[in-house]
Amino acid sequence: MRAWADINLDNLIYNLNIIKEFAGSKKIMCVIKADGYGMGAVECARILSENGVENFGVACYEEGYELYKAGIKGEILLLGATPFENIADAVKCGFQITISSFEQIDFLRRNNLHPEVHIKVDTGMGRLGFSHEEALKAIKIIRDENIADIVGVYSHLSVADMPEKDQFTLDQIEKFKVFEKMESIKYKHILNSSGLLRFADATESNLVRVGIILHGVVPFESELQKKFKPVFSFKTKIIFLNKITEKTYVSYGNTETAEPGDLIATMAVGYADGFVREFSNGGIVEIDGVGCRVIGKICMDMTMIKIPEELKDKVQVGTEVTIIGKDILKKAECIGTIPYEIMIGLGRRVARFYI
Ligand code: PLP
Repeated sequence: MRAWADINLDNLIYNLNIIKEFAGSKKIMCVIKADGYGMGAVECARILSENGVENFGVACYEEGYELYKAGIKGEILLLGATPFENIADAVKCGFQITISSFEQIDFLRRNNLHPEVHIKVDTGMGRLGFSHEEALKAIKIIRDENIADIVGVYSHLSVADMPEKDQFTLDQIEKFKVFEKMESIKYKHILNSSGLLRFADATESNLVRVGIILHGVVPFESELQKKFKPVFSFKTKIIFLNKITEKTYVSYGNTETAEPGDLIATMAVGYADGFVREFSNGGIVEIDGVGCRVIGKICMDMTMIKIPEELKDKVQVGTEVTIIGKDILKKAECIGTIPYEIMIGLGRRVARFYI
């Protein structure tokens, strides 16, 4: 085995139960787009469904279809702007469709499809959705003409993980108030993971859409991290050990040298596996909990690390190395990204083991 991810589904369910405590009476929609944040959408959905989850959010028809084909029970919302060519198939599968434009309403009217829909309102994210007035108009048109069954209305927070921008989040929540009061609509939702952890009391919305926190990752610096259990760790093995006797460059580009006496280990992981090149020249991985520094550039399939003195007698070919685990937030910050991008970037050839 070259590189793999251990995925602990017991911890996924543990986290679901913690999420339930935060959500109180709000229902939980598990967002499992992008193959369940890289952890396997079907595997995650199956166990979540067995543990009572009835609502799932995916990005697009293809992702919904994967769940449908696998026989996952529940309501599946397509969160993106579903292209016209997918709408009829999505309706056949019983998916709920996000409506964010009058063109979509017109398409449904012309094709007499009458799906279940959620109306998307843009309260400040500037990505998808109707403005406040447009949303009210859209709801009226859909109802007056009986074009679809409006089962939800929702919005998306853009800075709920950034305490310094809390006023913006509160303004978004305020703009959504008019919609969350609509009793005739079943689901009203605006909170994502950060929103749930930080703003649950600020809204009367009755559904939360959570993704990353299911995987035990709180996407901002917080003591709350301790409440959750890590779900995945990204691992590899040492495949070659090089006892340096003469000063030598290490890896492409001759960016670093190893000195006589150094022990350099080559690991079976590279940027094709999702160990991105930004971790070159200084990224830290762990062997038996001891940090080891990446030396030189990360290659497509291999990466070299310098073995610290305390591990020199312990490592061998086959020794396991943890590339990324519960420290993912810090690691992401070190290279100027977010945990989401690292999780979703795990390569296709990285085996997923469900433990
Ligand atoms: N809702 C929407 C519309 C999203 O795009 C996402 C994720 O990007 C989520 C909910 C879940 O966000 P999080 O993983 O931060 O809970």
